[in-house]
Amino acid sequence: MARGIDEFDLIRRYFEPLSNGEPGALGLRDDAAWLRPDPGTEIIVSADAIVAGVHFPTSTMPGDVARRALRVNLSDIAAKGAQARCYTLTLQLPDTVDEEWLAAFAAGLAGDHETYGVSLLGGDTTRTSGPLSLSINIFGQIAENSMIKRSSAGAEDDVYVSGTIGDACLGLGSIVGGLAVDDAADRAFLEGRFWRPDPRVSLGPALVGVATASADVSDGLVADLGHICAASDVVAEIHQHLVPISDAARRLVTDNQPLRTNLMTGGDDYEIVFTAPVSARETIVSIASQIGVSITRIGCTIPVTSGATAVTVHDEAGDIVEVGVGGYRHFGEHVAG
Ligand code: ADP
Ligand code: MG
Repeated sequence: MARGIDEFDLIRRYFEPLSNGEPGALGLRDDAAWLRPDPGTEIIVSADAIVAGVHFPTSTMPGDVARRALRVNLSDIAAKGAQARCYTLTLQLPDTVDEEWLAAFAAGLAGDHETYGVSLLGGDTTRTSGPLSLSINIFGQIAENSMIKRSSAGAEDDVYVSGTIGDACLGLGSIVGGLAVDDAADRAFLEGRFWRPDPRVSLGPALVGVATASADVSDGLVADLGHICAASDVVAEIHQHLVPISDAARRLVTDNQPLRTNLMTGGDDYEIVFTAPVSARETIVSIASQIGVSITRIGCTIPVTSGATAVTVHDEAGDIVEVGVGGYRHFGEHVAG
């Protein structure tokens, strides 16, 4: 943080306005905050930290850093079926951060408060000689005993995913990985999917009582579905040609099968992957149309047999597609650029 900015000034000017509407935040003037769940509900808690050069390029605009930090957390809460309420923010700021940066960062958060109906509950601010890093603890609310866990998938469930898969990984490839996306509109779309994830905040709560297990797609479809399978003691078979991809992605991978397969393991989509019993198919179709988010059935779970891989990907001919290690960030080694 640039010398000359007093921490208390900074909190008053940029962060106190963001606590709006949350009485327990106490105007960010106390040692701690309180949060009272509505009767019959419980609080769902999640945390995610992001570090410059590891989770986003060091050149990222401050508003995009803010939105990314908040949205990856909103995505976790949504995937559990809960409604996000508020969050705490811990900032480690290097000397290169000045007032202008902070103002743009706070404006990024303020815009997302409007969009997602959350407020800032408190936090901590320190200087660092290392890279910029920030961590959010987020608090969501849900009816008692209804959080959608990873561990409760059935052994003969359907597997679904929301939205489209792989856009953010192609976007990151374009931003820092040397992936050529010639069409300007496609490039803007794909990079936007990396910079500004669109957490499925309406879908998650609509899946309570319908989905048996769910997770958000942050590490990659195969890895995150694999987390559900491991926790639930089942395995899954999915079909590559059924996995929904955007028109922009399709144009890039049509003649590039390895890149097509990379989408299965690319991260940062912030879609929701979930399981549900076969009896829920009609309900899921109507949820998709009610909330206006596409939901695609991509495979099924089956009971574990010894030595089985958590997630097997098949092509149209039914052959197994080798997808490599799930969760590998294909362009991640270049993210510092
Ligand atoms: P303490 O000395 O107890 O750590 P601080 O002086 O760090 O307290 O913080 C004073 C107040 O400002 C607290 O209410 C804290 O929650 C809030 N605060 C500090 N940094 C942030 C931040 N980055 N975002 C939101 N609130 C913050
Ligand atoms: Mg402090």
